[in-house]
Order: sequence, then structure tokens, then C-alpha cells
Amino acid sequence: MNITNKQNLPAPFVRMAESDYQYTPKRYSATELLKPVREILLKHRYNDVLEQDCADMIWLLFGQAVHHILEQNGTGQCEFAEEKLTYELENGYTVSGIIDFYDMQNGEVVDYKTASIWKIIKGEFDDWDKQGMIYAWLLWKNGLPVKSVKFYAILKDHSKRDAKIKADYPKLPVVPVEFVVNEERLLEIDKFIRGKIDELIRYEDTPDDELPLCSAADRWNDGDKYAVMKKGRKTALRVLDSPEEAENYKNASGGDYVEKRPGVDRKCSEYCLCCEKCEYWQKIYGAKTATDEQGE
Ligand code: SF4
Repeated sequence: MNITNKQNLPAPFVRMAESDYQYTPKRYSATELLKPVREILLKHRYNDVLEQDCADMIWLLFGQAVHHILEQNGTGQCEFAEEKLTYELENGYTVSGIIDFYDMQNGEVVDYKTASIWKIIKGEFDDWDKQGMIYAWLLWKNGLPVKSVKFYAILKDHSKRDAKIKADYPKLPVVPVEFVVNEERLLEIDKFIRGKIDELIRYEDTPDDELPLCSAADRWNDGDKYAVMKKGRKTALRVLDSPEEAENYKNASGGDYVEKRPGVDRKCSEYCLCCEKCEYWQKIYGAKTATDEQGE
């Protein structure tokens, strides 16, 4: 990955960003294994030509700063911080992960995450659960005991005001989220890891445009929406998930027509680093980007 520095930020920003994109053949990290096959393989294939600006990685730097502080303040007994663990499978492929903090005595893994308040309010933690279980699996495979994985969510957009007036709003900007680790769960994640690596191997030589398309959920696409509209009014009376619901609402509330709003792949259009190498993005968003640029 080529790291650009459009705002001329200090050199440590660039060094930090560069260190995050070192790919090794036949090696996949815990966080990579959670991503869709197409994204993982395109990133590996085009790592040398893809670009990202270090200013866009500011939350990564923030995360690293937190890790550094915690590492400096450990007790140094039966624990380690920021340790890279690896395990090589029988097929020669290696899984790696950097564990923020591990307390051997209590069998506890700790990970610090910057997150948005919505993640906590919605309670969507499947990705953290899986990531934590891969860390637990790495420790287990390296002969180290694990009983739990605890994430500390550091909420970037926490509002003290909302915390006072909203019942379901986190009261503090740091929220612990814990997962229990047991043998059954370790065997489950073992199956997931092996299955994912087998899938990556299966598609290693597949041409870019024949790689399996990332699912709608992986593309962060919430699906098409149906807006109930009234003539002479710009905003919708209501936006619903199906044409039937929209029709019913229109008939009951005096709307004039229903407008279909195609779902947007938020990840493809804003957050996928390899999007320009993905034919799906090129087809749907590439032409739009080129037109936008011409219009500037
Ligand atoms: S642009 Fe979208 S479909 Fe293509 S790899 Fe990225 S997330 Fe997947």
C-alpha cells in the first residue's frame, strides 16, 4: 500500500500508516479473515499500487497511541501487550494476530477499540466476537489458556448531553463488551478459520472479475427503500423497507406516489481500499466518480 501524505503531517503518521500494510504470502491476519474473499484477495494482489492517505487513518493512530500507553503501564507479570502471535496450519498457511493485552493468570484477552455510539446502541458485536475468538484460538494453539475476551469500546462520538437524557444511551464514553471462551467455541472458530483459508486458496488464481461478489451485508448495503411522497413536497412522508408497506402507508396517509430509492453500498463507495480494482465498484460507482471529477 502506498501511503500518501496530502496534508504534510509529521513523519510518524506516515511510518505508522506504512507499518499497517505489510502483506506476506500465505499469511492472513485475524482482522483480515473477517473480511470478504474478494476484498482480501484484491488487497493482497494490488498492495503495491493501492493508495491511502495517512490522514484517513487517524483513528488507527489513536488506537496505536492507546495501546502504547497501556503497554507502558502493565505490571509486567504473567501478561503481555501488543504481542504478535502466529500459528501455521498443516497446509503451510499462517494465521496471525496482534493481541492488545493478555493476562495469563486470569486467562483474559483485552482489546481496545474506537467505535461509534451506534455500535453500542444497536449491540452489533458479531465481528468483535469473531475477532476475539481468533485471538483466543491463537493463544490456545500456542499453549496459553484463555477464559474470556474483553473489548473496551472507546466511543469517539459520545455525547454527555445524550447520556443524561436518553435511557438507552451509554452513560460513559468507554464501554466494556465481554465474550466467554470455552472449548466448544474454540472448536467452532477453528472450523471457521480453516474454512475461510480453504476458500481463499480456492480463489487464489481466479481472475479479479470472477471473484465471489461481497454480500450486501459486507458491502454495508441496507437494501432498497421505498419513499412515500406527496406532490409539492421535497421530503418523504415516510421511508419504508418494502413496496407493499409503502403502498399501504400511502393509501392510509394520503401520499401521492411511491419512489424507489436504490440501496447504497456504503463500504464500496466510501471505505473499501481496493475498490478501484473491483469490477463491481467500477461498474456501479467508477463511472459516477469519473463524471463527478469531470464536473469539478
Ligand atoms: S468495492 Fe465493494 S464489492 Fe468490491 S471488494 Fe470492495 S467491498 Fe467488495
